Amino acid sequence: MSACPELIRLKPVLHNNIWGGRKLHDVFGYDIPDGPVGECWGISAHPHGDCTVDGGPYDGCTLSQLWSEHHELFEGAEGDRFPLLIKILDAREDLSIQVHPDDEYAMANENGSLGKHECWYVMDCDEDGQIVVGQRAHDRAEFEQMVAEGRWNDMVNLIPIKPGDFFDIKPGTVHAIKGGTQILETQQSSDVTYRVYDYDRRQPDGSLRELHLKQAADVIDYDAVAPASGDVTAPEENGITKLMSCKYFEVLRIRAREGQTPVAAQDYPFMCLSVVWGEGTITSPAGVVNVKRGDHFVAPCGAGELTFEGVFSVIASYVPKA
Ligand code: ZN
Repeated sequence: MSACPELIRLKPVLHNNIWGGRKLHDVFGYDIPDGPVGECWGISAHPHGDCTVDGGPYDGCTLSQLWSEHHELFEGAEGDRFPLLIKILDAREDLSIQVHPDDEYAMANENGSLGKHECWYVMDCDEDGQIVVGQRAHDRAEFEQMVAEGRWNDMVNLIPIKPGDFFDIKPGTVHAIKGGTQILETQQSSDVTYRVYDYDRRQPDGSLRELHLKQAADVIDYDAVAPASGDVTAPEENGITKLMSCKYFEVLRIRAREGQTPVAAQDYPFMCLSVVWGEGTITSPAGVVNVKRGDHFVAPCGAGELTFEGVFSVIASYVPKA
């Protein structure tokens, strides 16, 4: 048995998006390209943004390389690719209103793709911030009628938000991030999106972005009850709150502060760790790592007990045990 492996620090991949802003540089300190930047892929092995290891024995390797060539770091995790994708989004403008399919629909209709379950932790937002989660049509016919009549305000469920809110976005849930919001998103590593409405916005060349209304009508869960708020009601024990659990991932909020040093046992094939606020240290049997807002790590298999000391918050995720 070799020594416990150390935390693996990842260098995020930044993406230009027409709806993005500059906060990923100005607030989070990332090195970003010119122009509007909306997405920081903090932990990703997706071909559209494969993160690189920053320092340590695997310096310079991509996460997808680690998955295929050093799979002992993820021992017990199955599948041909790293299954999760962690992003920070900076929405300066409203994102299009969209919905994702589940695995079954995506498998049958999107060349064997995975569906997408995602969730949002609100890192910051403008005062009077809002978000779209859920819709109000009771069945497909009513949805199609609302679309035909352009009754978007009747259809979408708008929710007021504040920093620290959390939303579980199941497949089949209509959703959109509104301008002035920064969130941390945990999701299945998939990219299948059906656009329902894009505010009739024209792209620089004058065209409208494609909508996918037939697919959206197919996959919307008309029976889902939309949440009234993003308040976290789950209990916090020694600084750790389980925010959600589904078959693809579980998500924890870990809060360190004076007199509170949470300890998390990393006894999963791997654990994703993203610092969403503050600074401090994470101590594992392999050593002490200084961390600050915007840092992303993978704690590999066998990393052991993690102790969080300082004044900071982390969103952690892992694939639950079968
Ligand atoms: Zn989405």
